[in-house]
Amino acid sequence: MDKALVDKLRTAEIERAEAVNPKDKHASVKLPMLSVVPPSAIIALADAMRDGARKYGPYNWRKTPVIASVYVDAAMRHLLAWFDGEERATDSKVNHLAHGMATLAIIVDALSVGTLEDDRPPKGAAAALLEMLKKENPNAASELVQRSGVSDGGRVEQAGRTVGRSHEFPDLGVINATCKNCGRSLADISAERDGGLNSVC
Ligand SMILES: [Zn+2]
Repeated sequence: MDKALVDKLRTAEIERAEAVNPKDKHASVKLPMLSVVPPSAIIALADAMRDGARKYGPYNWRKTPVIASVYVDAAMRHLLAWFDGEERATDSKVNHLAHGMATLAIIVDALSVGTLEDDRPPKGAAAALLEMLKKENPNAASELVQRSGVSDGGRVEQAGRTVGRSHEFPDLGVINATCKNCGRSLADISAERDGGLNSVC
């Protein structure tokens, strides 16, 4: 990033904090810095929100629960259509990215007022896997085995006795990565009812 720009931003934040009453200084720094939000994005978002308001009424999403999966599905459809080369939705003529932002904005709003129907599936390992892949650790997934008592050599101990080996995935980057100890696929192990990635071979 441009260092001069970063410095300018920091200076602006400090000056703003110094300009206020000392007792408000801390709060001021914590306030949202709306001046760094791209106005073009807000304008695009307004375009999509207006389309929704015309079709279903302004703030319709406040009147009924917002089902997370419905809005995530919509966001992903718009993102795929845009990335695959279509600029605007054929029905509304609004930019797909703007529609995508609108669906996410509605989820954020529903979260803030407590009307989100959170129908996400039980928590998976995607975020942890991505974090580990980022570190380019070849045995990344084996680190997911969060049992108390994982000993060296991948052996898993419970109450002082060895109950098995933790799964290890040397080729995490490939589709259908398999455990080098038991040969089962990452997908199969993740889907297990008892333990999933925390199970033993
Ligand atoms: Zn295994």
